[in-house]
Amino acid sequence: MPERIVIVGAGLGGARAALSLRERGFAGEITLIGDETHAPYDRPPLSKQALLDEPDPRLIAPLEALAQADITHIGGVRVDSIDRAQRCVILNNGISKRYDKLLLATGARPRMLPGLRRSERLLTLRTHDDAVAIRERLTPGARMIVIGGGFIGLELAATARWRGLAVTVIEGLPRLMARAVPAEIAAVMEARHREEGVEILLESAVAAVREKDDEIHVELQDGSVVAGEFAVVGIGAIPNDELAAQTGLLVDNGIAVDRFMRTSDPDIYAVGDCCSFPAAIFGDRRIRLESWRSAQDQGTLVAGNMLGGRKPFVDVPWSWSDQYDLTLQVAGLATTTTKSVRRDLGDGAFILFHLEDEGRIVAASGIGIGNAVGRDIRLAEMLIAAQAKPSMAALGSSNIKLKSLLAA
Ligand code: FAD
Ligand code: NAP
Repeated sequence: MPERIVIVGAGLGGARAALSLRERGFAGEITLIGDETHAPYDRPPLSKQALLDEPDPRLIAPLEALAQADITHIGGVRVDSIDRAQRCVILNNGISKRYDKLLLATGARPRMLPGLRRSERLLTLRTHDDAVAIRERLTPGARMIVIGGGFIGLELAATARWRGLAVTVIEGLPRLMARAVPAEIAAVMEARHREEGVEILLESAVAAVREKDDEIHVELQDGSVVAGEFAVVGIGAIPNDELAAQTGLLVDNGIAVDRFMRTSDPDIYAVGDCCSFPAAIFGDRRIRLESWRSAQDQGTLVAGNMLGGRKPFVDVPWSWSDQYDLTLQVAGLATTTTKSVRRDLGDGAFILFHLEDEGRIVAASGIGIGNAVGRDIRLAEMLIAAQAKPSMAALGSSNIKLKSLLAA
């Protein structure tokens, strides 16, 4: 049994692991170290409610709850390096902290356009402080430019339209959310954004960004210029895996872990956006997820494994995105298959089931108002986990209950 557990990264995965260690009865020392000054908080509201009517971060665990659980939270401090020989981490204030087991839950950071740096008018969104900076600029009538038509960009666009800003989204590919969401679903969202007055420029590569007086100008490769008061860059995230790489741990699209979330050092684990793992339901293909639920579930699971358990992470990936009153949800990996079948759920809501050539269902994605697709996506998740091969006709027919396919 370890006596001292150190967790680097006080975000969702790290905080969840710390709490779960105590819930499992671990009585040793737990130190949760994070470079942000806030108590651990949830990021999904940052592109939505935090910009509207929720000024304070939505806490995963308030400081009092951490103290009550006897979890030492060290905030506002970075871990600079790991000394595996001495089994300690070294903080940027010079202090070192010894561990018997170490968890890396360092998340990811926004990718920036090559050659550019963040500024007062060129922003990114990852932290509560980033959201505060954006919120200060969300004044009705202002012009916001969004670079990147992915989740962050589109959620921000919806929120800014709500606040009465003029919004232009610049996306390099021919369609929105190309990596995460099938074309049919992206098309529904694109139509809704256009209806709401968002200008969407597809297949538009950024050539230069210039700040001039009170404006920012984004020049596209066709020579046209988009002007605004500020721009937000949402062109993907980079895993924070440098600490692991520096200390010689295996890195492969993030910190490489096995299905027990253990790195190439048996005393060091990793969870959440910073790590890649072999996905059992996809034939052990190595994947890295950037989603709330996987960080939460991996954090819970790894606590048991650090205490000597051997439970593999086998969950079906799942994520959602809220834009206006529409919610899209994706279970599994929706962009890897060629065959798909559509099931209409009424009121414009629908689900697409994605199948491998031999008929196994590997993903489902859906869109509708509010939680219209929630129940069916949950059942689809179970079908994916069960490696079911239902007929395409049955999946496409809204008269046949998904539950009955599960039972079959
Ligand atoms: P994080 O939550 O990023 O936590 C990592 C923490 O570690 C950070 O605080 C970081 O600063 C800290 N850290 C890094 N390096 C060090 C170091 N060396 N020393 C100390 N501390 C360090 N997912 C969904 O499924 N649905 C959504 O609607 C959704 N909305 C989102 C909206 C926004 C704006 C963002 C940014 C993300 C959203 N996500 C959403 C993704 C989800 O929030 C992430 O997948 C999740 O937060 C990952 O958790 P994590 O613990 O791996 O990393
Ligand atoms: P993302 O979803 O990967 O989308 C980035 C988008 O920007 C992609 O469509 C990408 O297209 C495009 N892009 C890349 N380079 C570009 C360029 N130079 N010019 C114009 N477009 C470009 O990433 P994100 O939206 O930035 O989100 C960042 C992180 O926050 C991720 O971890 C994400 O999971 C998380 N987040 C999640 C949610 C959610 O799940 N609902 C919501 C908000 C944020 P290419 O495919 O060509 O690269």
